[in-house]
This record gives sequence, structure tokens and C-alpha cells, in this order.
Amino acid sequence: MIRYDKHKYPSVHRGIVRAALILLELEQHPAAKRYSAGDAEALIGEADAPDRRGDRQRGRGLHYYCAAKPDGTALPLHPALGGYCNGRGAPAPSPLTVLDAEYRTALSLYRAGRFFPAMQSLSRALHMLADICCPPHTAGLTYFSRYAGAHKRYEARAAELFWDSDPANLIEYHAAEGWAEKAKGNVPYSAYTDLLRGSIPESGGTWQRGTLAEICNRLSRSGTKELSAVLGDDALALDQSIARRLKLSVAHCAALLAAFDRDADDPELPVWKEQQPYWLKSFMSAFIVTKEPLFLEFEDDGTVTLSTQEKQYLAVGSMGRVLLTEQTEGYTYRFRFGREPLLTLYPDGDQDRLLAQIRGQLFSIRRMTHLQGDIFLSQTSFALVTQQPEKAKALLTSHGGL
Ligand SMILES: [Zn+2]
Repeated sequence: MIRYDKHKYPSVHRGIVRAALILLELEQHPAAKRYSAGDAEALIGEADAPDRRGDRQRGRGLHYYCAAKPDGTALPLHPALGGYCNGRGAPAPSPLTVLDAEYRTALSLYRAGRFFPAMQSLSRALHMLADICCPPHTAGLTYFSRYAGAHKRYEARAAELFWDSDPANLIEYHAAEGWAEKAKGNVPYSAYTDLLRGSIPESGGTWQRGTLAEICNRLSRSGTKELSAVLGDDALALDQSIARRLKLSVAHCAALLAAFDRDADDPELPVWKEQQPYWLKSFMSAFIVTKEPLFLEFEDDGTVTLSTQEKQYLAVGSMGRVLLTEQTEGYTYRFRFGREPLLTLYPDGDQDRLLAQIRGQLFSIRRMTHLQGDIFLSQTSFALVTQQPEKAKALLTSHGGL
């Protein structure tokens, strides 16, 4: 029996990001100038972080974006998300929701002048995009299923083909350059426009899909066409499939890098900003969370705090109760935006402790049913708005809330 070991080589995720950066240069795309050597280091260095032990995005089936079952049966789209479910059959977190969240976070961090962390978030977005280009990730061939062997074989062979060299003599740049050459002329720049358009509700209970959902769905569906090569025993067909998908992955990652270059300087985009007053207003009813405006402050890890000018922070206690208070031990103040179309506030970035959801396009927060406290309103959405709402009742005051 052949033992497949993908760890003999550097991470293919690192290689794909490096190749995507080289590809922009080969195409003489203006975005190539955006990324300095330091940026490239952050982008490449973070590329495999979501697969590392202990990482907040590791495991739990969230790197899977399944348009089909392992036997090829097509799976439905999630009605609100407009995207496919992850390897555990849940709509989030999934490569789409993480891609969306990390891309928005990267833009916010960049605008806040935190360039290195911005590149790290962008790299995590690229990781998810590359995973969606990998067919075992689009048909639920998870490491915890009986298809784990086929998945490992695919990734180990992908590493051999990508690096194409004896590990001892490997020069990462040269291998990546070869793939950039192969992907030249295939970058889907035009598909990567209007990326912040999240899914939005339409009349009749249907949802209009967001741009990233459209991109990810197409990639996932095309991946399921590779299933026979992935699961079969035709070695040539497998190699050809891998080469196609690696090239596709490099091209799409280059397109996302080019899109970031464009979006980073676009003042019209609804990017979360520091030093701008926001009010948390209920959606379709007259409540605001606080009378005072809230200000966002980003941390280097992409988490955010929401505080009033008097430094009273929006906080969550151990029982899931939401209040406004000074920073005290035992409370959570740092949240993470995530989930498309319903962006989510994750306490400390832990996606298993879902707290509240923010609808991207509308900047709204939707309460989760298990959430308690004074701002608990079942099935009510809250929107971060830039204008102070008139005649709205405040649910939290700076000295109350408990
Ligand atoms: Zn992954």
C-alpha cells in the first residue's frame, strides 16, 4: 500500500498564494504593485494557518462546500444563504461565509491602517477560495468519512504535482512561477466585481444571492464534475484533474487579490470603519440598542469592539446577556464579523459560540434565540446605521442593562 504524505512538501496553500502573486506580475496587472514584499510574506505565511492545529478556523467540516454528495447526487442551496452547506451539512461557518467575513475584515483592517493583519485576513479568504477549488471539498469527501483515503490521495498527489521537485532541492518560487505561467490568461477578473453585495431578501421569501455566493457555487459545481477522477483508479485522469483545479485555484486567487487592490481604495464601499458613529437600530421596528452612538475598534486579529464615546463597551456576560459596561473580567467585548449574508458577531472569534448575526448588506444584527438580556427581542434584526434614528427607544443604557 502506498502511503500518502502531504507533509513531505510545503503547504500547497502557500504555493497557490505565491503563484497568484506572481501571476499578477506576469499579467502586468496594476494590483501587482499593491503587494509589497512584506505583504507577500504575510499572505504566504498565513495561507495554511486555517489548517493548523488549534487555529480558530480549523476542522469541524467548515472547509467543505458541498454541491454534491460523494456519490454525485446534487445537494440543494441553503435558501437564505444562497450557498451550499459545509461538511457537516450546516450552512455556516462554511468556506463561503469565512471567505466573505475575512474579505470584509481585511478591507476594514486595511482602512484602519493595520496592513499586516489585513493581509493575514485576506490570506484566510484565499485559503477558503482554494479549498472550494479542491474537488474533495465540494463533494463531502471529509477526513471523518470513508472517503478520507481518496481525499488524502488527492491532496498528496496535488502536493507532488505542484512542487514537482525533490523536497530537498525545492525552491518554492520556481515551482509557484511554473503554475503562474500555466494560469496566465485565465484570471476571471470581471467575475470579482461587486464582491460586498451580500445575499438580500426579496419579496416572497426568496433571497437574491450575493456575488461571492455565485462565484463559490459555480466553483463547487464544477468540482463535482471531477468526482470520477478523484475516486477512480485512472492515474492519468487524476493527475489531469489535479492540474486543472490547481490552475483554476491560482487564477481565482489572483482575481481576489486584484479585487482587493481595487476595493481597498474605493470610498463608496460599505466597509466597517473606525471613528465613525454607528447606531444599532432594530430592523422593521423602533428600537435602538444604545442612545449613544457606538464606535468600532479593530484589533490586529480582526476582532472588533463596539463602544460609546464614554468607553462603555457592548459586552456579553457568561449567560449570553448583552449589556453596556466598562471592561471587566468575565465579559466578552471582542467580536468578529462573519457569515454571509447574515454577518455574525462571534465572541472572541469562536464560531461555535454564535452570538448575534449581522446582515451584511443592511448592516443588521439579528438576535439568536438563545441570547438573553435586555436587548433580547426574538426574531428581531438590528442594523448598524450611520444616521441617528429618530423616536427610537433605547434598549440599553450605560448604567443599566443587567
Ligand atoms: Zn482548508
